[in-house]
Amino acid sequence: MKTTERDDGDPQNLFENVKKRLCSCSPDLRITPNVEAILKMPVRELHVSLPIRMDDGSIQVFQGFRVQYNDARGPMKGGVRYHPDQTIDTIRGLASIMTWKCALHNLPLGGAKGGIVCNPKKMSKLELERLTREYIQRIYHIIGPDRDTPAPDVYTDAQTMAWMMDEYSKISQKTTFGVTTGKPVALGGSEGRTDATAMGGWYIVREAAREIPLPLPTATAAIQGFGNVGSNAALIGSEQFGCRIVAVSDSTGGVMNPAGLDVRALLAHKQKTGSVREFPGSGPISNRDLLRLPVDILIPAALENVITATNVEAVKAKIVAEFANGPIDSEADSILHKKKILVIPDILCNGGGVIASYFEMVQNYNLDHWEKEEVYRRIEKKMMEAYRAVVELSSPNKVPMRQAAYVIAVARVVEAMRLRGWL
Ligand code: GLU
Repeated sequence: MKTTERDDGDPQNLFENVKKRLCSCSPDLRITPNVEAILKMPVRELHVSLPIRMDDGSIQVFQGFRVQYNDARGPMKGGVRYHPDQTIDTIRGLASIMTWKCALHNLPLGGAKGGIVCNPKKMSKLELERLTREYIQRIYHIIGPDRDTPAPDVYTDAQTMAWMMDEYSKISQKTTFGVTTGKPVALGGSEGRTDATAMGGWYIVREAAREIPLPLPTATAAIQGFGNVGSNAALIGSEQFGCRIVAVSDSTGGVMNPAGLDVRALLAHKQKTGSVREFPGSGPISNRDLLRLPVDILIPAALENVITATNVEAVKAKIVAEFANGPIDSEADSILHKKKILVIPDILCNGGGVIASYFEMVQNYNLDHWEKEEVYRRIEKKMMEAYRAVVELSSPNKVPMRQAAYVIAVARVVEAMRLRGWL
C-alpha cells in the first residue's frame, strides 16, 4: 500500500502550507504560541481500513480517513474525497481550509474533511457503493447532523451522498437526511447545490473584475479541471456572465479555441467520450500550457498545488480565481502578489458549495424545500458579505486577499474558542 504520510519539508504539503498561512495571521491578531498550537492541529482524526469484496470475488483493503479540525463555531463540516494520490496531510490541510472557509462565510459550522485512497475511475458502481457503505459503518460514531456532516468533493457526488445517508439511516434506524449534504434533490438535497461552488465563485470574480475594471463580456477565461466545479464554472461563466471560455482541461488533456468554446457542446462531448480531448472545432492544449495562457481570468478548478514555484513565472492572467482548494502553493502565492496578479483565495472564492450545504442542512432540519432562486439569492448575499469584509481589510493595507481572509476567519474561530472557555 502506498504511504499516506508526506514529508513536512515538502513545499507541496498542503497541511504545512495552510499552517504557514495560519501563522502569518498571528502578529495581526496577537495570537499567542499556545493558541497557535491549538489552531495548527485537528481535534480528532480517524483512520479506518475498509475491506471490500470486489466484483471479481477478491478482497481489497482501502484506507479511509475523517479529519475533524475545529468545531469551536459549530458542528464539523466538509467533503469526502476519493482519490488514489491523497495523503493524510492533504486531508488535514483540506479540513483546516474548511474551518477557515466556514468561519469567513460566517456559517455556524466547524471544519472537517474525509477521504478514501482509491481510484474511482477503475471501480464499478457496485464496488463504490460497497466502499462508501463500509466507510460510513466505520465512521458512524463520529458523524451526524449535529456532529459532522460529509459532502461531495473530488470524485464523489450526489449518489455517494445518498448511499452515505442511507447507510447512516439504516444503522440509526431513522431516515436522517441531515447527515450528508449534496444529496440528490429527490432525497433531501437542495436545489442549486450542484453548481453552487461555481456560481458562488463567479459572483466573486464579477466583483473583483469590476474593481480592476475588467468587463466580463469582453473577458477571456481558461479553466483547469472539468469535473463538477470546472464544468459548471465553464457553463455559468459563458452563459450567465458572458465570459469567453477559451480553454479547458481535464486529467487527460485540454482543448482550446481562441474564439471561445461552445461549453454545452463540450459537456455533451465529455459525457459521450469520457474526456474533453478531440472536441470538434478546438485545438489541443496541455494542462501545463493552459496555465500560461494570456487570458484575463485563470480558474484552477481541480486539485491542489497546480501553480507552484516551478511554473508561476509563466502565469499571465490578470485574475487567478481559486475554485479548487489549495491550487496555489505558498511560494507561488507570494510571487503572484509581486507580479500584481490578483489572487482570489479558495476560502473566499469556492465557499458557495458549503454555503449551499449549510442551506441544505437548514432545509433538512425543517423538512423544508426552497426554490432554486431562493438558494442562489441567499448564496449571493453571503458571498458578497464575505467579499466586502475581505476587500475592506485588504485594499487599504494593500495586503493580499488571502491574508485578509485568513485574518477574518481565524479571528472568528479564536473568538468562539475564547467564548466557549477553551482559552
Ligand atoms: N467539498 C466542498 C468544499 O471543499 C464542499 C464542502 C461541504 O459542502 O461541506 O468546500
